[in-house]
Amino acid sequence: MPDLSLNSIMDANCCNINHGRRRRPTRVVYIGDVPVGGNHPVAVQSMTNTDTRDVAATILQIKGLQDVGCEIIRLAVPDLAAAEALADIKKAISVPIIADIHFDWRLAVASIESGADGIRINPGNLGGPQKLAKVVEKARQYGVPIRVGINSGSLERDIRDRHGGPVPEALVESAIRNIGYIVDMGYEAVKVSIKSSDCLATIAAYRLLSGKTDFPLHLGVTEAGGLIAGTVKSSIAIGLLLMEGIGDTFRVSLTRDPREEVRVAYEILRAVKIRQRGPEIISCPTCGRCEIDLFSLAEEVERRAQQIPYPLKLAVMGCVVNGPGEAREADLGLAGGKGVGLIFKGARIIKKVAEEGLLDAFWREVEALLAEKVKGESLNK
Ligand code: SF4
Repeated sequence: MPDLSLNSIMDANCCNINHGRRRRPTRVVYIGDVPVGGNHPVAVQSMTNTDTRDVAATILQIKGLQDVGCEIIRLAVPDLAAAEALADIKKAISVPIIADIHFDWRLAVASIESGADGIRINPGNLGGPQKLAKVVEKARQYGVPIRVGINSGSLERDIRDRHGGPVPEALVESAIRNIGYIVDMGYEAVKVSIKSSDCLATIAAYRLLSGKTDFPLHLGVTEAGGLIAGTVKSSIAIGLLLMEGIGDTFRVSLTRDPREEVRVAYEILRAVKIRQRGPEIISCPTCGRCEIDLFSLAEEVERRAQQIPYPLKLAVMGCVVNGPGEAREADLGLAGGKGVGLIFKGARIIKKVAEEGLLDAFWREVEALLAEKVKGESLNK
């Protein structure tokens, strides 16, 4: 008898993966047990914004990120205490973590010794080849991949001067140079990012870089902004690149709770039909026919849906006149009316419910539908 509790459904790995798109061939590196590159699913990343030395708060945030589907999580390592804290954090979590290091090679070494599954450095700013060699040696010893992270703000002076600024060609030159330092030391578990806060420069830079290297690419627009600006910039840059087959993992940067970054990341993947995690919510913009507080209803449905990895189409519509018709492709929908709403399944209306009980009645139908789908899948196995 399959376990049909909502928890078991939520634990199931329900991501649909489209392997059909033409993806630029890249090598594969493993961040913990998550493969990045080749034909593996494009992995979703985020970064904690807790003080890494605050182990309890960081574990809590990592678990929250994992709950919404984050597959690789980066942590800032500003000092030795933070590097050492990674060991305690690792004991309490199962998602792979990457230590984010700036300037101090000793923090990279300490982070690897503490169990980081990957490190992110800019090899050019670690203080010279001898210090980089110590980091590379430690990474080799522990089998930990290195992300070469180039940012427009931290470009080497000679490259910046030659190109007249952090233009795409300059970012790519810096990336190739810095990858070269590591490869020349005989280590090739490398991935690379070249982030700019300019959306179009980011697109141009990754296009250029993808023609010059087959190391896996981590996409992102750096300092992208708040929820709206950051989502727009990231969707355009990351979405377009993914559609062109460029990119093996990515982070959406938002000045926001990092769980929002993961939510936006999956919406980008869904929109470009690469991966699907969780329900797709269709909701109308409302108009003069709407007689219900649809904004709150839609927000609450979105909030609850974040905990469900199973792909479903749910509709939240503002009126009973047009709602059910306009959203007939949904698996389940609700439509608001004056004091009363309808719940519909495809083109069929299945319930009429008073407004105050509409959301809960709808959610009970969602849970029942999930249970049906999981049962069907178990029987087909
Ligand atoms: S579903 Fe109804 S309320 Fe929503 S936009 Fe269409 S007509 Fe207006």
